[in-house]
Amino acid sequence: MPIRQLSPELAGKIAAGEVVERPVSVVKELVENSIDAGATRVSIEITGGGIDQVQIADNGAGIPPGEVLLAFQRHATSKLDSPDLLDAIPTLGFRGEALPSIAAVSRMSLTTRVAGVDEGYLAEFSWGQLEKQGPQGCPPGTTVRVDDLFGNLPARRKFLKSAASESGRIHDLIVRYALAYPEISFTLKVGERTALTSPGDANGENTAVAVYGPSVASNLLKVSGEDPETGYEVQGFIGNPGLHRANRTYMTFFVNRRWIQSRMLTFALEEAYQGMLPERRYPLAALNLAVPYEDVDVNSHPAKREVRFRQDGKVYSALQRAVRAALVEHSPVRGFRTSPGGQKMSIDQGFGSPGFFRSPFDGASHYPAGGASGLKAGVPGSGDGVDGFGPAGAAMTPQQALPALRVVGQVRLTYIVAESPDGMYLVDQHAAHERVLFDGIVRQSAEREVQSQPLLAPVDVDLTPGQVATLIEHSSFLTGYGFDVEEFGGSGYLVRAVPSILVTQDPGKSLVDLLDMVALEGVIQDRKDTVAATLACHSAIRAGQSMTEAEMRALLEQLEVTDNPHTCPHGRPTVIHFSSYHMEREFGRR
Ligand code: ADP
Ligand code: MG
Repeated sequence: MPIRQLSPELAGKIAAGEVVERPVSVVKELVENSIDAGATRVSIEITGGGIDQVQIADNGAGIPPGEVLLAFQRHATSKLDSPDLLDAIPTLGFRGEALPSIAAVSRMSLTTRVAGVDEGYLAEFSWGQLEKQGPQGCPPGTTVRVDDLFGNLPARRKFLKSAASESGRIHDLIVRYALAYPEISFTLKVGERTALTSPGDANGENTAVAVYGPSVASNLLKVSGEDPETGYEVQGFIGNPGLHRANRTYMTFFVNRRWIQSRMLTFALEEAYQGMLPERRYPLAALNLAVPYEDVDVNSHPAKREVRFRQDGKVYSALQRAVRAALVEHSPVRGFRTSPGGQKMSIDQGFGSPGFFRSPFDGASHYPAGGASGLKAGVPGSGDGVDGFGPAGAAMTPQQALPALRVVGQVRLTYIVAESPDGMYLVDQHAAHERVLFDGIVRQSAEREVQSQPLLAPVDVDLTPGQVATLIEHSSFLTGYGFDVEEFGGSGYLVRAVPSILVTQDPGKSLVDLLDMVALEGVIQDRKDTVAATLACHSAIRAGQSMTEAEMRALLEQLEVTDNPHTCPHGRPTVIHFSSYHMEREFGRR
């Protein structure tokens, strides 16, 4: 084949492929444009997962009428007015590629007005061709609408996931930008439903509550300060170690408030948590590194997802130290008290209200203080038999059954001390109860025998838009587990029935906490297990609650007959065994 120049149309499609991979890339580019334009309000509306339509409206600077068509030219940008700027880019955009790329693979319209200028301007494109342009009345700011994405690239369209999954990606993206830009109010509408609204009051804590819900937000630790050695500022928050996640999607990094992906920073974060999380569990974090612009090259990835640092080591240690300092400050655990080395990091206790934050190691801290333990209430299989489990052998592996245990007492209102002929056992009361409840819930659900308890009087709760989204998305699971919730008007909902195991808890609080946990946990993990684990976690007895001997005995008996008595549903140990042999050795009897 002879060499030929590609037609502009084909070249445009090919170039678009680098920038626009899926609906979330469109949203990312357009939101970044709104941020660069100094907007304080950005509203995003999507239908059909953003494939059918994305509409983004901002109240930013707008584009002067005479420059609107230019903005759709490839490599046309208002953000790089001197070549030197390329070495120190302060804006999110700089290549002038997004608008032409998106226009090449969609039907797109842009309406814009500069505040103080009388008239706005409209431009409409179909598959890269200008269809319409001219003056147009509109509010100050810019509104961009993108319809029928990849309608002219069927191959690309085939690679898209379901609308729900594409919407999920967009939701995650907006959560991240909302966290990085607390001074901007973001609203995301998915179809008719408002999925997310951030307050835009420049308060990171309020933003975290808005996007994550209060129960997760109350388990976040604030990181804020300048690393004394590098001068780099690290800001944001991390989850306390009790808030670990099953995958790495909850680690978000920004460099100069640009969302990036970085293996190096991921490692730095994980290393800071070393020894604090169970195996194969990952922390939650949203951290911004403020680095001098000239120390970072943002022009190294087609979708600007990655950056290059001039000195990786500096960035690594700044982040690692900041996180470590925050954890150390909150951790009473032995071994972590070592000095973080002249840290200047300040760590705020509490997001706003005093005591809102808790220590990472106050045990079962991610659910509210419940009333009575409800230990016996509706726990399936809470029979009293030990069913032929005799004393087991000496050492123990996770697969092994527990021997019959005799309760000795409770320590620190958190651990049950028990003994069997092969030694002493320390049982984490919360983790053990979680395991018992989890197994019961999973069994009930498998047998389709979930026990639901209608409430004598329905309880009304106010839900945030994010919680409503979760409620709608997971309604069949929630119903399957025994919840009956009804819309009541506005943000009000009525809880009419709850899973039986929750009867002793505050129904409204249970629902809200469950929604928050499912929203965070439910993205990748098997949702059924998530709901079960969350229900179990929520209704299990907490650390710090005193237990009667009968309750402790009942719990141990129930734990003994579970399939996997050695770990809780999150993978933490339930039991530590001190063998008789080990104790004798330690006391010099052997
Ligand atoms: P880049 O962001 O890299 O400059 P784009 O193709 O995304 O390239 O946008 C081209 C230009 O259009 C921008 O430089 C900016 O001047 C203008 N523009 C795009 N979106 C907006 C917006 N929401 N508000 C104001 N100006 C915008
Ligand atoms: Mg741009």
